[in-house]
Amino acid sequence: MGTAGHIPIRRCVVCGRRAPKSALVRIVVEQGRVVVDEAQRLEGRGAYICPRPECIRRLSPRRHARALRRPLAKGAWEGVEQRLMAVVAANKT
Ligand SMILES: [Zn+2]
Repeated sequence: MGTAGHIPIRRCVVCGRRAPKSALVRIVVEQGRVVVDEAQRLEGRGAYICPRPECIRRLSPRRHARALRRPLAKGAWEGVEQRLMAVVAANKT
């Protein structure tokens, strides 16, 4: 019991589920490219997504680019899905 500390809650951009940010995967835009911020330490505005294949597959460059609020270069999303899937696989216990 006791009082819980401040746990930042974030929302998955795909399904809208709210979860502690440590339970979500962060993606940010770096130099126009979308990168997976595994340590959640990169600067800039990020978006969060559930580490679930259902959400990762539904992540759409067209629909979710706006959540990042940054101009994206051509091919910015290349490899992002694979990277996210790798994170999910690595975190599986
Ligand atoms: Zn989700």
